[in-house]
Amino acid sequence: MSTFPISTGEPRTRDTVRHEVRRRSLTVQSRTRLTDSLVRFTLVGDDLAGFTSFGPEDHVKVVFDSADGPVGRDYTPSEFRPLGRSSGPELDLDFVVHGTAGSATAWATAAQPGATLQVGGPRGSRLAPAGFRNVILLADASGMPALRRWVRAYAGVTPVHAVLFGDDATLLDHLDEAEALAATPQVALTGRFDLLEVVRAQDITADTFVWAAGEAGDLIPVRRWLKGEAGLPAGNLSLHGYWKRGTAGLDHHAPLDPADPD
Ligand SMILES: Cc1cc2nc3c(=O)[nH]c(=O)nc-3n(C[C@H](O)[C@H](O)[C@H](O)COP(=O)(O)OP(=O)(O)OC[C@H]3O[C@@H](n4cnc5c(N)ncnc54)[C@H](O)[C@@H]3O)c2cc1C
Repeated sequence: MSTFPISTGEPRTRDTVRHEVRRRSLTVQSRTRLTDSLVRFTLVGDDLAGFTSFGPEDHVKVVFDSADGPVGRDYTPSEFRPLGRSSGPELDLDFVVHGTAGSATAWATAAQPGATLQVGGPRGSRLAPAGFRNVILLADASGMPALRRWVRAYAGVTPVHAVLFGDDATLLDHLDEAEALAATPQVALTGRFDLLEVVRAQDITADTFVWAAGEAGDLIPVRRWLKGEAGLPAGNLSLHGYWKRGTAGLDHHAPLDPADPD
């Protein structure tokens, strides 16, 4: 299990590292089914020289063709190997093939080895904060690559509990043995579990850090409870809508909860 550095500055703050922003032209070397919804694309190319990504939430902008011209979608560098089996650098991106019309998912449904992809970034890395007693991670399939990066950052440092939500019953398959051991994961399938109830049952105190990524509407009640009843300040929370039902190309910089933009 590769690891990621955590912040060394003030406890509970997050160091940021900026990267040179580059657009890279990459080629699909292999396509691998990971879970019912996730497909991994291993990308290769000389342009990967100098690729750097240290933060659990790092993301690249991938460019796709659409009826309206090129569009960009965010993806998490799931794994980067400076020297992979191909004897060169390799980047894994894990795509949810979600079955709804979308430029990225259309590409991921069809793409085979030899296909090309334009990838920009990451612009920078925000490192995992140190100094919390425990960490709760919540992710649906779209957040799984980032969740694995959080688990690897905290392994052996801070106890982590991962809640995998959404409708993919095979998400656990996305964690390798060491990650599963470190993440003490629990699966909360939509329709069988209420995500908010699952979150309320967690060991959450003023010393808990909570990260979440997934469908924006699923996370709004969770955010309201964490901020309200649980009383967690902003520094204990990092909650992100990675996609939104019925919205194409969600701007993840927009507030997760429009009724409470702070
Ligand atoms: C920082 C960041 C990192 C991300 N990392 C990843 C990653 O590593 N892997 C990954 O798969 N996704 C990731 N995402 C989410 C991904 O960017 C979105 O799911 C994106 O909308 C997919 O684009 P699309 O062209 O397929 O669909 P869009 O054109 O954006 O949307 C078309 C339709 O598809 C629906 N839709 C979009 N995404 C999903 C989904 N996941 N499940 C079900 N329906 C969906 C929309 O609601 C809409 O109705 C990340 C998002 C962010 C902000």
